[in-house]
Amino acid sequence: MIRFEDIVEEILRYNPEADIDLLRRAYIFSAREHRGQVRLSGEPYLSHPLAVAKILADKRLDVISVAVGLLHDVIEDTLTTREEVESYFGADIANIVAGVTKISKIPFTSQEEIQAENLRKMILAMVDDIRVILVKIADRLHNMRTLQFHNPEQQERIARETLDIYVPLVNRLGMGKIKNELEYLAFLHLYPENFQSLKNKIEKEKKVSQGFIKKITRILETNMRKNKISAKVEGRVKNLYSIYQKILRQKISLDEVYDYIAFRVITNSAGDCYAALGIIHNLWSPIPERFKDYIAMPKPNKYQSLHTSVISKEGSVFEIQIRTKEMHKIAEEGIAAHWKYKEKKFIPTAEDQEFLWLRQMVEWQQEVKDPREFMHSLKVDLYQDEVYTFTPKGMVKSFPRGATVIDFAYSIHTELGHQCVGARVNGKLVPLKTALKNGDIVEIITSPGHGPSRDWLVFVKTSRARSKIKQWLNRKERERSIELGKKLLEKELKRHHHSLKKLLSKGEIREVASQLGHLQENDLFSALGYGNLSPRQVLSRLLPPEELEEKEAFQPLPPLVRRKLVEKKVLVKGHDDLLTYFARCCNPIPGERIIGYITRNRGISVHSADCPNLMNLLYDTARMIEVEWELDKDHSYPVEVSIYLEDRPGMLAKITSAIANQKTNIKNITQKEVEGKKALLNLLLEVKDIQHLRKIVSSLRGIKGVIEVKRVLRQTLAVS
Ligand code: MN
Repeated sequence: MIRFEDIVEEILRYNPEADIDLLRRAYIFSAREHRGQVRLSGEPYLSHPLAVAKILADKRLDVISVAVGLLHDVIEDTLTTREEVESYFGADIANIVAGVTKISKIPFTSQEEIQAENLRKMILAMVDDIRVILVKIADRLHNMRTLQFHNPEQQERIARETLDIYVPLVNRLGMGKIKNELEYLAFLHLYPENFQSLKNKIEKEKKVSQGFIKKITRILETNMRKNKISAKVEGRVKNLYSIYQKILRQKISLDEVYDYIAFRVITNSAGDCYAALGIIHNLWSPIPERFKDYIAMPKPNKYQSLHTSVISKEGSVFEIQIRTKEMHKIAEEGIAAHWKYKEKKFIPTAEDQEFLWLRQMVEWQQEVKDPREFMHSLKVDLYQDEVYTFTPKGMVKSFPRGATVIDFAYSIHTELGHQCVGARVNGKLVPLKTALKNGDIVEIITSPGHGPSRDWLVFVKTSRARSKIKQWLNRKERERSIELGKKLLEKELKRHHHSLKKLLSKGEIREVASQLGHLQENDLFSALGYGNLSPRQVLSRLLPPEELEEKEAFQPLPPLVRRKLVEKKVLVKGHDDLLTYFARCCNPIPGERIIGYITRNRGISVHSADCPNLMNLLYDTARMIEVEWELDKDHSYPVEVSIYLEDRPGMLAKITSAIANQKTNIKNITQKEVEGKKALLNLLLEVKDIQHLRKIVSSLRGIKGVIEVKRVLRQTLAVS
């Protein structure tokens, strides 16, 4: 049993001026009122308020909250009235105790409507004074810790309620540590068999996993030190409930769960987090779709971290979270970390950004009569994975978080998606990639004959939209490849004074197509368009050899087709879209000279005119075609920059801030030490155009200690 002195000791550690006298009076009052009462565990009832007060003190809350922890059950479970509490302890404490009591009286059941109503009441109580909910959470945590003394039905009911009501709420308040514990305890009581078998499995492999944790931790620590990043490394087995959810979500068996070990790297600055990420990705291969940057895009509950999953050389997958000490504190304590014991700011004010959602929720509940609709809105904020939106006629559509206007359009009808050119959300015109928010009323604007763009694939979230867009693009791509193939062949034939039209009408093209294994003429053209087949190969079957030879002398290639690239917003004149992509070796940026290259089977790759690979002998000049930019101001392009610098303290900070001053995102940083106190830093930046890049480079060159700054153009062996 917790002793009162333990609580006092804890509080004095963070708040030496705390009003201990007030606490002592609350303790004595509570002891007197609960006298003779016994918990199901057989302990004196007082053990419960003491434990709750200790949890609140551990969270470093103010004296009032801790006092309420001691008193929280006196109105509910004894003959004490609210007025008495007020006369002894003042209005503040009386209000909060009354608030906690009110919540305790809410009959929770699993029916959706009633749950909505109850959550609504809890949220209203929070708006009065957030401490009401903090005390209630501490109360629930202790009750969950002692749940084994209840009978099985009660255990199930309380555990269910904890998962349904408290866990989402605690999660929304960002209190990661308590959330984990509540989930763990709820899992234990709700699914005891699953809990036990999962636990046994992990126990059985403990020796192996401890060895693994030790090994990876050592590698991480060594490499951070080598790169002069001061960081704390932690390895652990993930939260059992989250492993269990993964089993359910992925429909896998217990034996198929392998990545239940996770690591954390805790650094001193956000810059160090990205640098650490670069180091980690140099050590092990990352799984791209598992990377999440919650530093650049914090969760609504203020959670920040970089998440990456990597594969070790032996093939084990494990997750690494990278965050600063500050971010770590917020991830663990959430709202409790924002409110220091000294600030008397426990009532949300208009300035508290983090309580905007709370106020919105309350306003919403006043307008919405239908509890189901209210529940939908709650789900959005409490269960962060879903977004509920409406059609103009009021039909509810739910989406994964991050879904866009395009996802919405495809969810209604494929054609509506294809022809979508814009949207009005709540009456306002918005860009197509706008992420939907709860309660948005979405109206799609279409233009007949319009088609989807490849860019959409970058931001759509639903698989339906993705597959419909891909289908359309594939169809179009084939049409274009046929057209391009026809042009290529026509041009080559013209040089030899033949006409494609005539050969087509005589059926000679069909003949050659079938000789080359194609079913129809269009398949032949398509192969030409994709570069799988060269016009010369076709001609050699159409024309006698003498006729071919005399024309083989080199001729400079006139602009073939002036194509328009849409992919990544680079446009090539003439046609539009498709069959085009950026060469990965040089990643051209708007404003610089570019050249298109017809590849053998992947369409046209666009290179920077300076790209060393274009000079490569593997590249056939006859395949080069003229391309040109069409600028889109909102788009940015990845470019890799390499900085050679003196390795002295503070350099990384100077460099990142110089880049930030140019309003530029850093997507990745990798660092390499070089001999003689020098270092090589490679940055992946997002730039608007070549001028933007030049500005960045010149400001980097202006930093003392920077020796050279270069754009990275990679030499590749293969043609791309
Ligand atoms: Mn209680």
